[in-house]
Amino acid sequence: MTDTGSVGIGLTGAGSEYTGSAGTVSADTGLAAARAAGMDGSTDVDTMAAARSGYAAVPDSPASPNAGDNTDGDDETSLKAAASAVAARIMNNPATDAERDIVERQLGRFPRGMVAVGARCVCGRPLAVVTRPLLPGGIPFPTTCYLTSPEAVKAVSHAEANGVMKIFTAMLADDEGLAGEYVRAHRLYLAFRHEIAMALNDSEEHISSTSAGGMPTRVKCLHALLAQTLIMGRGSNPIGDLTAERIRDEFDPNVCRCSVQW
Ligand SMILES: [Zn+2]
Repeated sequence: MTDTGSVGIGLTGAGSEYTGSAGTVSADTGLAAARAAGMDGSTDVDTMAAARSGYAAVPDSPASPNAGDNTDGDDETSLKAAASAVAARIMNNPATDAERDIVERQLGRFPRGMVAVGARCVCGRPLAVVTRPLLPGGIPFPTTCYLTSPEAVKAVSHAEANGVMKIFTAMLADDEGLAGEYVRAHRLYLAFRHEIAMALNDSEEHISSTSAGGMPTRVKCLHALLAQTLIMGRGSNPIGDLTAERIRDEFDPNVCRCSVQW
């Protein structure tokens, strides 16, 4: 537990809490080819990611002018473009009272610092939200992409209980390409949060190198990693993609199993 973890909007009964993982980015360490984050769900579906993850990207995301331009290289420019496109969608669709209300019922507590719904079930209910970097009261909060769907949370908790994190950790150790993609996911996460922080004028002072879920080198919370995949699109986080594939029989954004009423 970090100094910020105890004050977040942690899930009740999730079997794991979202704690930030301090880590530094070692630049250019085996980074995979850049990939568009799949923001609009209709273009630039990365083939490797698609092989891992058979579901559509966030259904409510409008086409972005930046979404289709990141097919080569993986420099800061392409990363920033991908992050900016997702952040723009988020900032253009701020949470409504009705959305805060259903998320409160999903979590069993008020979603402090909720910026917007970041991903939805095929039925429209929220699956994951974007939380601002600085919670009301000035509390740094690193878990920008936050899973809220009780069905998704439960499915991921089952996977964690079944030892999937150890499996993914071993995969990262054995697969340099995968490890590189995971480092990129970390950088993308930070770039995305930076865009949100800039838009909201939130300080990132205490969380500037902290992403979530164990990134960039460990696997500590599949909920947080899946949330990134759901919000930023398949291809944005390889372990999030693998998690989505792993739990698909129990949770799938395209198969509504939602229990919380609107
Ligand atoms: Zn649903």
